[in-house]
Amino acid sequence: MAQYQEAAIVLKSRPYREADSLLTFFGQTHGKTGAIAKGVRKPKSKLQAGLYPLSYVTVELYQGRASLATVMGADIIQGFGRMRDDLTALSWGMVLADIVDGMWSEHDASPETFQWLILGFEALSQGRDPATVGMTVAWRCLEIAGYAPEWGHCRDCGQSIGPTGPITLLVSEGQAQCKDCSPGKGVVISLGSFKTWQQWMTINPSRLGAVEAHGVIYRELYDLLDRYVVAQVGRRPRSLSFIQSLMTLSQDEPSTKRGETP
Ligand SMILES: [Zn+2]
Repeated sequence: MAQYQEAAIVLKSRPYREADSLLTFFGQTHGKTGAIAKGVRKPKSKLQAGLYPLSYVTVELYQGRASLATVMGADIIQGFGRMRDDLTALSWGMVLADIVDGMWSEHDASPETFQWLILGFEALSQGRDPATVGMTVAWRCLEIAGYAPEWGHCRDCGQSIGPTGPITLLVSEGQAQCKDCSPGKGVVISLGSFKTWQQWMTINPSRLGAVEAHGVIYRELYDLLDRYVVAQVGRRPRSLSFIQSLMTLSQDEPSTKRGETP
């Protein structure tokens, strides 16, 4: 039983009983933690401001014998207000929170994942291309959690993949197939999409979002991420379905060009 303080991201929040909320934090040192915030939905609660989903907070938690911790206090470090003002940016922020929530077990710490979440939310707040930022951070988080796809060699014949596309990724195995072996299963992406993906996986965090994906490359990489997350995490986060509907509404990629070039 202990009370402790830590820097954390609020991954999600849902109403519970009359005035409480159930929260999921991703903390810098304790990883994912479920907690109850008692009375938080009363109008005069001091806790409220610090506990919005996708906020970066310092939280005071009491962990008793119960599996749920109790929120004793919360101070906001960054609220990422500009991310919240943009529906597409906010949706990608929620995708990142859902993926991290789906990949990690309680109290399994990953300071690197925590760092990437903050980098992602900052870039989304700075107005960088939301789809590019969202997909890049999603793949980096998948990689940190040990879910990175193996693109180097064809699963069946062993020859190295590229530089001649297209490439097939068997999403449930996380392995690639060359064009000679591809039996038509898995997700096929063009060489251009593969090269964009490779740049995302090595890009310096300060340039996050600078290698934008548009048009066909955007659609291929979105489809790849969507199907990969479903296969690896085991379910489709609602936030990913929501982005799909934004795409359908705009009849094109949801992001607008923002003047950044690779
Ligand atoms: Zn092959």
